This record gives sequence, C-alpha cells and structure tokens, in this order.
Amino acid sequence: MLQWDDDLRVAGTPLYLDSRRPRPVCVVSHAHSDHLPNGGVHGHAYATAATAELAEYRVGMTAVTRLGYRTDHAFDPDTRLRLTPAGHVLGSAMVRVERPEGSLLYTGDFKLRPSLTVEQADPEPADVLVMESTYGLPMFRFPDWRQTQARLAEAVAGALAAGRQPIVMGYSLGKAQEIVRILTDHGLPVTCHGAVHALNGIYERLGVPLGPYRRYKAEDFHGPAALDLAERGALVAPPQVARSAFVSRFDDPLTIMMTGWALQPNARFRYGVELALPLSDHADFDELLELIERVSPRKVYAHHGYREFVGELRKRKIDAVLARPEAQLKLFEE
Ligand SMILES: [Zn+2]
Repeated sequence: MLQWDDDLRVAGTPLYLDSRRPRPVCVVSHAHSDHLPNGGVHGHAYATAATAELAEYRVGMTAVTRLGYRTDHAFDPDTRLRLTPAGHVLGSAMVRVERPEGSLLYTGDFKLRPSLTVEQADPEPADVLVMESTYGLPMFRFPDWRQTQARLAEAVAGALAAGRQPIVMGYSLGKAQEIVRILTDHGLPVTCHGAVHALNGIYERLGVPLGPYRRYKAEDFHGPAALDLAERGALVAPPQVARSAFVSRFDDPLTIMMTGWALQPNARFRYGVELALPLSDHADFDELLELIERVSPRKVYAHHGYREFVGELRKRKIDAVLARPEAQLKLFEE
C-alpha cells in the first residue's frame, strides 16, 4: 500500500505524498519548503485551498485540485483521498488514503494542541499510520501553550518598558503569524519583517485575523525619523536574522527565539539569542503517543525523527519502524 522509491508513494497508484522532487501527481500536506519540490512544481497537486495559495506564493504550484477538509475524493476507482486538519500551519492536512488493501493515514507535520491561527488537528483512524516524529524523545514535553504565550508577552512588555528593542523570531510561515497574534492579543505593538508581512497578508485574506501591526521600514527604527519604541513595538522576524546585521544594528536588543528546541539546555547559545521559548507547531512526545492512540493503527512508520522514538513505541508494544526512504517498504505484504 505504501512504497518508498526515493519518496513516499501509494503503491498501485502514481500518487506521491510530499515529494521533494517534481512528480506527475503529488499530495502536498502543507506549504513548508521541506515538503515541496526543490525549486520546482508538481505536474498536478492535491492540497487544501490555503496550502495551494501559500505554496503558489512560495514556489508556484500550477495545477492543483483543491480539497476541503473531511471530504472524500475518488482519485481512481480503488483509491479515495481525504484530508483532515493537521493543526500545524494554515491549510496543513493529514492525508487519509483508502484502498481495497486497507487505510493509511499520513501526517506530514502536525500538532494536537490548539493554537490561535490554525484549525486544531482532527486525526481519523487508519490501519497504517505514517507519522512525523520530530520531538520523539521523552525530554520533549512542552509546557501549557497559554503559559508560553504569557512568558512571551511578559518578556516583550518588560523589554519595551526598559527601553530595549524586542526582536521575536520564528519561521515566517505559521510560527510568525502565531507570534503576531499572541502579541496583538496582549495589546502589544508589533512591527513585522517583510518576509513575515507578506505571509500575514495571505493568512488574513484566508480569514485568520492577526490584529494591528506595522510593516518594517528601516527609517522607522534607525536615524533621525525613528519612531518611539512604544510605537514600533516588538519586531517579528524570521530566525535567519538572529546572527545578521539586521539585529546588530540595535544597541541592546532583547532577542527571543520561539522554537520547540528551546527545551534543550543549550538552545540559547545554539541560536545566538538571549531567550528561547518553547512555542512549536509540532507535536511533543505525549502528543505523538496520543496520535497513535487516536488513530489506532496496526503498524506505525515514523519519519523525520529520532531512531529512539521507535524503541519507545516498541516498549509500549506498538508495532513500529523507522521509515527510511532508502528502504523499500511494502505494507500489507508482511
Ligand atoms: Zn512544516
């Protein structure tokens, strides 16, 4: 039912799942670049309308069949496709494939926790689960999401009061919009880096309000016409700016990285920031286990994660293997 030939393909069909190479037919789970072809477009893609729009903006995705959540689509007489919310970024989907041999749920990236800018995940049962497992170690247990929001708002408000420029970093699609919404919900002023600003516009057009914010202009921050700190507020920017001239132009900025890896003790140093807070768009260890419980599969294939995660699952009597693209796997033949 499932084959790895460089990428993941549904056996007996030409249908690839999140292929990194251009394919004649591919389902795209969400619009992050590590789930899209490298510098190319697919012949024909299946995706949610939001993913189609975001991917179109990022790499171009010409022919797309837009699928709504929880609506069956007959791909061919033997294959039904169904997308359900993955809770990761706007438009992100889990892909359920139903074939005569059985059913398969492929997660792409996901989280089960709620968030302010993305519909919460809604995994459906399947015989085989192919799951993302980025944070598949017991040390990765995120604190309550409201607590992380409060810590961010407190840090930003404190910096503004102390006359320091807060620079809050998170990847520009998904994380940055969540950060903006957290800050504006707390009544804090926000300015967005251009890369973030462009994606904010797509979020808003697709019906996700982000509150009031400015677009970054150098003259608002530096030089004789610079605005007051209280007016320009927190600067929300992609992670790449952490070690760049963009940050070093400020005298004494408070740099904050929002990432699940903040749970690692050396995160601050690794990212070169003063503060790292565990805001993630991925499932933590407990959510990975919860997903398996809810999907109730006979077999689990874990991708994008630690080898130890599979060991943890086997300890819990779950039939699991690490999905490696170089291994030719054929399910339902075992
Ligand atoms: Zn992603």
